Amino acid sequence: MKVLIAAPIHDKAIKMLKEAGFEVVVKEYPDENELIGLIKDADALIVRSKPLVTRRVIEAADKLKVIGRAGVGLDNIDLEAAKERGITVYNAPGAPTNSVAELAIGLMLAVLRKIAYADRSMREGKWVKKECLGQELYGKTLGVIGMGRIGRTVARIAHHGFGMKIIYYDVIRCPKEIEEELEARCLDLETVLRTADVITIHVPLTPQTKHLINEERIKLMKPTAILINTARGGVIDTNALVKALREGWIAGAGLDVFEEEPLPKNHPLAELDNVVLTPHIGANTIEAQERAGIEIVRKIVEFFRSK
Ligand code: NAD
Repeated sequence: MKVLIAAPIHDKAIKMLKEAGFEVVVKEYPDENELIGLIKDADALIVRSKPLVTRRVIEAADKLKVIGRAGVGLDNIDLEAAKERGITVYNAPGAPTNSVAELAIGLMLAVLRKIAYADRSMREGKWVKKECLGQELYGKTLGVIGMGRIGRTVARIAHHGFGMKIIYYDVIRCPKEIEEELEARCLDLETVLRTADVITIHVPLTPQTKHLINEERIKLMKPTAILINTARGGVIDTNALVKALREGWIAGAGLDVFEEEPLPKNHPLAELDNVVLTPHIGANTIEAQERAGIEIVRKIVEFFRSK
């Protein structure tokens, strides 16, 4: 069995494949034509968010049975074409959970304690102590929008680690034991927005969640509240958020994801001091990448073992 690894994955994952008896070919990020050449006799393909696995690639793969995405999003794979050829597609949805959750907490602290602003000012030789009057997380109410894997992990860290009260909005209610563990209450979206001191977004981007946080809903938030988004940029109406931050409808925002990525140069968000911006690094940790590689290799090995 031959596995083509077309993106950087953790050494431990490659070792696991070799030990399981697979022939491994590594070519990181080939272009479409290179990939078409390499895929011909491969039984399995491993990718990350790149390269693109197009219909042309899939149709050139004579032996391909499984595609593994060492990560979550499957947007770079033509799933329809894979389905037509009976190719199984796996991802590793749990791998980045902890990393994204920790980044969300990091952004909360960075916004509430003005860490990025303080750092920028220090480098300019300014001592901005007075401007950096912050707020604690302790005792505040966290509103989680989307209480899935990441939302629950954020809620756990916030509740057990920072003494935050948890309220949440989700289309599916959490199991009772999780609500009890976190003393969490499931409420409607408007009430969560009105009540929370920190709103953190963890819903996927779907037609239902596109601009879920729009001008009208941002206006429900407290003027002292902050908004954190480590899910997908499109869940928030960026123009409305810029207006809200400029005009002080809310106190600040921490954003890892944007409607347009990379964030265009001179974007209005980058001109606001009450915003902390990171370049979609939620899952970008050594541990998440290791977990993603191992999880996907396990699934591929299991797939061939069960045949
Ligand atoms: P998940 O599927 O475990 O949780 C998503 C939750 O959202 C579920 O509980 C679901 O019921 C809820 N939901 C879905 N549609 C909803 C709606 N219309 N209204 C209310 N709730 C709704 O997913 P997860 O692993 O927690 O990941 C959440 C999101 O985080 C992903 O979809 C992805 O976009 C994002 N993400 C970002 C990064 C990053 O690098 N910043 C990395 C990984 C994931």
